[in-house]
Amino acid sequence: MTAIGVLVIGPAVTYLGCSATSLGPHPMNSVSRDVSTVIDPVKLDRLAEVAVKVGLQLRPGQDVFLTAPSSALPLVRRIAEHAYKAGAGLVTPLLSDEAITLARYRFARDDSFDRAPNWLYDGVAKAFDNNTARLAIVGDDPMLLSGEDAAKVARASKANAMAYQPALSRITGFDVNWNIVAYPGASWARLVFPNDDEATAVGKLADAIFKASRVDNADPIAAWAAHNAALKTRTDWLNGHRFHALHYSGPGTDLTIGLADGHEWVGGSSTAKNGIVCNPNIPTEEVFTTPHAARVEGRVRSTKPLSHQGTLIEDIAVRFEGGRIVEATASRGAEVLNKVLDTDEGARRLGEVALVPHSSPISASNILFYNTLFDENASCHIALGQCYSKCFVGGDSLTPEQIAAQGGNKSFIHIDWMIGSGEIDIDGVHADGRRVPVFRKGEWAV
Ligand code: ZN
Ligand code: ZN
Repeated sequence: MTAIGVLVIGPAVTYLGCSATSLGPHPMNSVSRDVSTVIDPVKLDRLAEVAVKVGLQLRPGQDVFLTAPSSALPLVRRIAEHAYKAGAGLVTPLLSDEAITLARYRFARDDSFDRAPNWLYDGVAKAFDNNTARLAIVGDDPMLLSGEDAAKVARASKANAMAYQPALSRITGFDVNWNIVAYPGASWARLVFPNDDEATAVGKLADAIFKASRVDNADPIAAWAAHNAALKTRTDWLNGHRFHALHYSGPGTDLTIGLADGHEWVGGSSTAKNGIVCNPNIPTEEVFTTPHAARVEGRVRSTKPLSHQGTLIEDIAVRFEGGRIVEATASRGAEVLNKVLDTDEGARRLGEVALVPHSSPISASNILFYNTLFDENASCHIALGQCYSKCFVGGDSLTPEQIAAQGGNKSFIHIDWMIGSGEIDIDGVHADGRRVPVFRKGEWAV
């Protein structure tokens, strides 16, 4: 699952409140044409409705805190309208902007890169304690920071991660209903479709987002109900088995992932601690649970590039011993990978294991989105770092100490990367050694 990452709020906090005039008609980068007209307005409106009614399942009277790139303003406006029609209290948007983020890396004083707007993150945590729903729109250029000083990016990212921790723990702990959806920003679209002109690229990315988010369907709310039911048959089967471990085999991969004591498989919709059933990720194709932080052994290789804060990390190969990554290489971005692994002790251990068939619609699209919200749904994956308390039986009432005692990992980071392909076999392994086929050649064996 993709948690709402620090970069969604962004290293540069630019606007609080939503004043169209303050954004102006003149973007500060080289983009001179408004390409949002190529985006189907009917499907965009459906996406906004799905975010409010399926993603958040917003309750009358609930406030909404919404973050988005400035390019996504057309979707922000549609979401605000649907939220207020659904009875929202206050909808508070916070927009980030690519040009302002770049201005920081180019011109800000050096000592500012170890700081974050703690006052803002503290306020966000307080809002969650007051039952505010959380919505994030992603759509920025994933490579935005690729040309900037990597040390500054790492420092700013660490400062943000630390300041964000109280708010993030309420998201990973599912204190409130939350949801992430995507908007086809122009710079993101140009990266995904480099051979097309900007308008064509935006149109293609919009169509891919709408299809994956099931809003190309005339009744997307019914389509999501059916999809959630299908994912539940998978989690019910896995929870019926309560495997001790999963064993993966494939090219460059011979990996045993022990599962946490009392783990629970989840997928699709999820009940937050405030009692609201939400769909945190739109799209989603995965079922996932918590690995045991100390019981992962063997080797695994990534099957798709990982786009992390502007750097592509390719051909990741790691070796685990006692749950800890003791060797890590990559053909590209190895330096960034090793910095990530050194974030804290939990960054070298797993916090999530997820199963996605190789034939998933996002995998079948053959598009590399450079965005985890999409790419993780194209492939079986694992995540370094923080686990989700939701992925434990009775997880809502477990303390962080109990979660740790059952094998749940703790970290400032949560980074998903892809290990699935059409060549991966996975067995479920019971405590007595008995094996049950789970995946064969990348597809469900059951
Ligand atoms: Zn996942
Ligand atoms: Zn994840």
